[in-house]
Amino acid sequence: MKVLIIEDEKSLSMALKELLVCEGFLVDAAYNGADGLDYALSGIYDIIILDITLPKMNGIEVLQTIRKNNISSAVLILTAKSETEDKIAGFKSGTDDYLTKPFVTEELIARVWALSRRNTMEYVDETLKYGDIELDRTHHLLKKDGSKIKLSTKEFQLMEMLMLNKDSVLKREYCITKIWGYESDIEYNSTDVYISFLRKKLGALKSKTVIKSVRGVGYSLGEKE
Ligand code: CA
Repeated sequence: MKVLIIEDEKSLSMALKELLVCEGFLVDAAYNGADGLDYALSGIYDIIILDITLPKMNGIEVLQTIRKNNISSAVLILTAKSETEDKIAGFKSGTDDYLTKPFVTEELIARVWALSRRNTMEYVDETLKYGDIELDRTHHLLKKDGSKIKLSTKEFQLMEMLMLNKDSVLKREYCITKIWGYESDIEYNSTDVYISFLRKKLGALKSKTVIKSVRGVGYSLGEKE
């Protein structure tokens, strides 16, 4: 689960990040509305914690722009007690929950967990299908006919993204940020390494499905000709 914190109070942001990391979330932080919006528009976050009063662009504008761009991340708004009107505006523009400052951090963690559960419940398809293969999302297994192969966490994440984006090209940068996060200094070719592992596993299953490289862009699923 990836969380984005858009909050200009650095000490609060850092404290929240630490807590969420302890809970096992992958966390990025932005300290003003404009940067926060850039991060959010990548579409890689499951949950966005969004402060209302922010430099460069306020939280409501950020939220409205996110929704206009069809980004479906769950959004938890942080408001000050004096911002009741903002709060109402926030709900109108597509927020999922809000918390009034000052809050107890346990309360925030509980809300984030609730939103993360709500998000995973949308994953109704336990199994994804493409061509002659199936991906078991619960057990991270790649299957073809009666055969199956276990995927590592990163292989699974990549395969899942490929299958969810089967009608388009999966961008390399998107894979990297989604799996390793913005702040990682992961080498560009690490994705290629995991793609090659996946290709080997598809080969071992004697699948007709192949992962094609689209030069300079990314990868897409296809069938052996
Ligand atoms: Ca603020």
